[in-house]
Amino acid sequence: MPGMNSHGCVHCGLCISSCPTYLVTGLETESPRGRVWLLDQHAAGVTLGSQAIQHLDDCLDCRACEEVCPAHVPVGHLVNQFRQNTQYLPSHSLSKSLRHFLGSRSGRRQFRQLVAWSRYRVVQRTMSWFPDWIPPDTMALAAGLPVTKVYQSPKELSKNVHGPSVMLFTGCVMEAVYEATNHRAIDLLTLAGAQVVVPSAQKCCGALLAHSGELGGIRQWVVNNIEVFEHSQATTVAVTSGGCGAFLKEYPTMFSPADPYFVRAQRFSEAVHDISEVLLEMGLPSKPKNGQRISMHDACHLAHGQNIRQAPRKLLQDAGYELVEMPDADRCCGAGGTYNLTHVAMARTLQAYKVADVPSEVNAVALGNPGCQLQIAAGMKKHGRNIPVEHTVDLLWQAYWGQTT
Ligand code: SF4
Ligand code: SF4
Repeated sequence: MPGMNSHGCVHCGLCISSCPTYLVTGLETESPRGRVWLLDQHAAGVTLGSQAIQHLDDCLDCRACEEVCPAHVPVGHLVNQFRQNTQYLPSHSLSKSLRHFLGSRSGRRQFRQLVAWSRYRVVQRTMSWFPDWIPPDTMALAAGLPVTKVYQSPKELSKNVHGPSVMLFTGCVMEAVYEATNHRAIDLLTLAGAQVVVPSAQKCCGALLAHSGELGGIRQWVVNNIEVFEHSQATTVAVTSGGCGAFLKEYPTMFSPADPYFVRAQRFSEAVHDISEVLLEMGLPSKPKNGQRISMHDACHLAHGQNIRQAPRKLLQDAGYELVEMPDADRCCGAGGTYNLTHVAMARTLQAYKVADVPSEVNAVALGNPGCQLQIAAGMKKHGRNIPVEHTVDLLWQAYWGQTT
């Protein structure tokens, strides 16, 4: 394959060893270079068969390849563009459910209710009797749901806010599954001196639908979120979900430069920061060592998507934790938005790899993305490893104000 193809790939192969699907299969067609070659064939007018389409659709959009590619080939983005051409989209009925549950306030309420029920073992067992309604692999993820934790505000929290106005982007999965984490993020931002606003009119960022190949229809969510931010008069948008943060930063790509929303989307995306970056920038008090050891999993959309690795580590160390690194901390855990629901075998294999990488001597695994948290927590339970999987925010809150339960 000499020369450069239409997507700028020079076939150097530097990306191959970073690709999780290549790691699992060893197939060139399941590697970034192989996928770019398939896309090039498609661009040249070759009709792709179902197997080739499957190889493309197996891409996790983890962006590990994009980070190491010397030619800056945006493989994950190119595959997503291909998915968005519905003619080639495998029939994942999931998109319809996502649109229902995430698209309106009542849908989000139903989603929260569904998640709340799914926390109970008895419901999980009952659901397993109706595999046609909720597939067993979806229910297997419910094992990773946290037991209900009632959020309690800290007894001593200085309200002497002097810093910038920060809008918390709540995120639909964070809101439904890890609502207490969002409350604790507000406490930490307040401790750091921020004036926190949480506008109720904010909507889902749209990432889950976009990654399922459906960009059409989420534009109104994007416009809404930009307007909500402008109306809040905040200068920063803090995000507790790595997946949401990466997608919110991509909002300008959804408008042509001539569109009046293009510039507004640019201003919005420049204000978006992961919660760890906001807290590090604003500063939290240092704490003495607390004897707890933590290993960090780098969510793809934080590490590869936003180049955020050091901020959560620095915060945890400053709060008194000792870090114990796991191998390949930034290798995808198989969650991939809704990937673990649509590509069950691959997601399970990557989940098992991640669980095996968690050092045995740690007290918890830290991360910053709800999809990874569910996936790894479910994997830890499945493989009999009794190590909690916690959001960085929850561990920080615990260091400053005691137990999270
Ligand atoms: S985005 Fe991830 S899964 Fe997709 S080709 Fe690149 S490294 Fe492989
Ligand atoms: S690293 Fe980039 S240029 Fe090299 S094979 Fe992979 S996609 Fe092509």
